[in-house]
Amino acid sequence: MTTQAVKIEWMKAPARPGQAARPKSAVAQELAEILASGIPDRATLRRILATTDADELEVIRSAAEQTLLQHCGDTVRLRGLIEFSNRCVLDCYYCGIRRSNKAVERYALELDEIVETAQWCGQKGYGSIVLQSGERRDAKFTKLVTDAIRAIKTETRTPELPDGVGITLCLGEQSAETYREWYDAGAHRYLLRMESSSPSLFAALHPPEQSHAARVACLRSLKELGYQVGTGVMIGLPGQTLDDLVDDVLFFQELGVDMIGMGPYIPHEQAVLPGNPAVLDADTRLQLALKMIAATRLLLRDVNIAATTALQALSETGREQGLRFGANVIMPQVTPPRVRRMYTLYDGKPCLDDNAEQCATCLEGRINSVGRRILKNNWGDSAHFLNRNMA
Ligand code: SF4
Repeated sequence: MTTQAVKIEWMKAPARPGQAARPKSAVAQELAEILASGIPDRATLRRILATTDADELEVIRSAAEQTLLQHCGDTVRLRGLIEFSNRCVLDCYYCGIRRSNKAVERYALELDEIVETAQWCGQKGYGSIVLQSGERRDAKFTKLVTDAIRAIKTETRTPELPDGVGITLCLGEQSAETYREWYDAGAHRYLLRMESSSPSLFAALHPPEQSHAARVACLRSLKELGYQVGTGVMIGLPGQTLDDLVDDVLFFQELGVDMIGMGPYIPHEQAVLPGNPAVLDADTRLQLALKMIAATRLLLRDVNIAATTALQALSETGREQGLRFGANVIMPQVTPPRVRRMYTLYDGKPCLDDNAEQCATCLEGRINSVGRRILKNNWGDSAHFLNRNMA
């Protein structure tokens, strides 16, 4: 990839969403007209990802923000992130908690602590949680998750949320029977990241026992079962091209997903994939990730897109910038601080020491600072899912 990031002071963009500055150059004006004329085609998506011109970047940001406001409104949906175990049977080459990393201390929260953490989220008005862990497929693990889902659905009921908090699962590749069991227990969203839609890049990221085809089959199975389905990719991987990223965005469209959770590639020192100097510099990866959010918003329009924590690992205001480029979901960290350090997929993960209360206060300020507001006591489902089920 040959793009070079220019340092842009994103936060100087108009503070009120929906306001757009007039493009200064004729080229940027032309791009604004293309983006206003309808859904971007492949060439336009590539142009969005390739540009480093400040005027064009502001045109892209503004168009993505307008599209978000039009199709999803100005609210930010929260999912309290509970990383309940770092035990994993897989060995993804980029990951800090991969099976082969013997340096990491392993943990698993008890059922009661998982449920109490979810209750705290419900009381805070978060509306939804994410249950995430390393990948396991044994019967004990399946049952723990089923029990946790059932207990959370019962124990988080309030007058505002009579069916309890919404539950997203992020627990990797499982059998259709397991997906069905968890859906029947009360989970209704599932995030399974492809990491790359390119079969060759996928193969470079994973050992041979993991296959691109199997992951796609899982995504299709989840959709058939009725889940709201999310996927995502890493951005700025060694060997990744702009055309690979365009293919990723078109893959999201072809699969018809409801949610996107993607972020910049950040190396982990105990992982197998290379760190510097093989990867692009942090500013370039951040800018590319923001452009991917905008391109996805402009193409898919009504999906939920997360401003992931990995954005904040590259910039103190990374998540706010993600919101300004078209994201509408944030996953506040609620994993108990005593185990949070043990769940590091990449180096430099932020918010390691803040307790959940501090994260909640900090986040509300960050969201309000970009003229957006939190959607409280609501599952915050994907408009795309609701629209496709009404069609
Ligand atoms: S990315 Fe997920 S499945 Fe892969 S090694 Fe890390 S925790 Fe396990």
